Amino acid sequence: IEHIFKHLKNTKGGKNADYIPELKKVNPNSYAISVFTINGESYNVGMFDKEFALESASKVFSLALALKTKGVAKVKQMIGTEQTSTVFNSVAAIEESANHTLNSFENGGAMATTSIAYDKNKAKFEKKIFDNMSKFAGRHLTYSRPVYKSEYSNSDHNRAIAYLLKSYKRFYGDVEDTLDVYTRQCSALVTSKDVAIMAATLANGGVNPKTGERVIDAKFIPYILSHMVTNGLYESSETWLTNVGLPAKSGVGGVLLIVVPGVMGIGIISPPLDEHGNSVKGIKTAEAMSKMLNLGIFNRRQPCKM
Ligand code: GLN
Repeated sequence: IEHIFKHLKNTKGGKNADYIPELKKVNPNSYAISVFTINGESYNVGMFDKEFALESASKVFSLALALKTKGVAKVKQMIGTEQTSTVFNSVAAIEESANHTLNSFENGGAMATTSIAYDKNKAKFEKKIFDNMSKFAGRHLTYSRPVYKSEYSNSDHNRAIAYLLKSYKRFYGDVEDTLDVYTRQCSALVTSKDVAIMAATLANGGVNPKTGERVIDAKFIPYILSHMVTNGLYESSETWLTNVGLPAKSGVGGVLLIVVPGVMGIGIISPPLDEHGNSVKGIKTAEAMSKMLNLGIFNRRQPCKM
């Protein structure tokens, strides 16, 4: 990863998310790569101690929480697994889809997934979401007030989507409270090291390799990982699979959370995004790592090199 880091450090292209003004302010040259193996080995390069907003990568963990409380069949029925070829906050896709919620990673389905954990007591609702993410990270996670405020004051698009889903009876908690807690979950602050540990917990069948704690039953992992395979990078998921070949989830803060099942978790952060909302340099980094370590599941002719 040091070699790849040096090689790609000066890669240009993409731009920070600007629909959340606070994310626009983040230094676009920030760059970090972390690996955490299921044996607890940790490798890090770049700004791996700097915190960034988790954004959509948080959706993986609200899905995990929903699965823990409802099980696979019920979550599938309440949300769905429909793939789309539109942008992650497309209203048209919700309108045109028969199930409307699409999947747990498009913004609408993601908010509906968070709403499954709804509690009338908003503090309890928020705590449930953060306790769960913290267990995956193996440390207490908090959120960035400035990112939260910035995103919340620009959340009318998400609010409209949430009310639309409510009108279809595809939302499972109070819209305003859920939008608020969802925005906080997206503003959760993580380092690339945290992201790698969160991914490694999924790679390790649900046991956090840092703390040894079982965070989720192993029986839910295939649903989460297959969701990441089909929808993790939205409409670029297929290209990602061809070039990297691993379950992953992106976020508009520039995070890429990648799972190498049975081997390790990878966390890459670089804020400038492509037109689909995925980190440009993050994708290049993942492609290089996949190639160098023979990680991609679709072109692996021999065991990967870890
Ligand atoms: N919080 C962002 C939103 O709701 C997350 C989007 C993303 O990271 N793709 O729009």
